[in-house]
Amino acid sequence: MEQIHTIQRRVTCTRDACGQQDVITIYPRLIIDEMPRLRPFVADGSLFTHTCSVCHTIYPTPYSMYYVDRRNRLMIIVAIDEKEYQEAVQLSFSQQIYAWMMKYINRKGMLRIVRTPLELSEKTAIAASHYDDRIMEILKYSLMKKLSKQTKDVNRLFYNAFNKKEEFAVLFNDGQIGHVDFEKRWYQETARVYAADLKTKESPAVIDMNWAKHYAEPVPIEETGEPVSVK
Ligand SMILES: [Zn+2]
Repeated sequence: MEQIHTIQRRVTCTRDACGQQDVITIYPRLIIDEMPRLRPFVADGSLFTHTCSVCHTIYPTPYSMYYVDRRNRLMIIVAIDEKEYQEAVQLSFSQQIYAWMMKYINRKGMLRIVRTPLELSEKTAIAASHYDDRIMEILKYSLMKKLSKQTKDVNRLFYNAFNKKEEFAVLFNDGQIGHVDFEKRWYQETARVYAADLKTKESPAVIDMNWAKHYAEPVPIEETGEPVSVK
């Protein structure tokens, strides 16, 4: 990882008939502790969107990034395209990545690889709330199964935290979005079942619902039979 720097990039408005070209600043190597003013923009995803200077259309401007959070001992590689993703996975098995962590976090930290700015935002929210993202993914997987039985098929869940309010955003297969209030006891129950085993295991860098699916079959909340309310 070379020195931290910013890059100016030209982007083209996505709105038909506009086509305005604006220049944006991107951060391919971001040590967030050195630019704390950017934390909220990572959290709400606006670091990866741009508002057109002419027609004010807001459009996505995703890019790959090395994200370092010293405070939460976290390094996240955002790999947007498949090639970068495969390279990041290879890198996660190398000594190089741990050398970087010692350099940038000053001790061994946690490494994660994600594919989208939304996943980056979720990982940082989970870390800031001091949860274990593996427990969280198992809980999400379990909730997804429960909701799919109860209402309609769920595509994904995302953990969110703002103004001390925690929730899951629920993306259904039909494109609709719902919200489920996060209940700490769900997390605690999941942790009770899996934390001891997870402690003994070296974690891979890719921790998502697919990982959870292969790691764990339904957790206690599945068995309580209590309906989950979606808003
Ligand atoms: Zn425009």
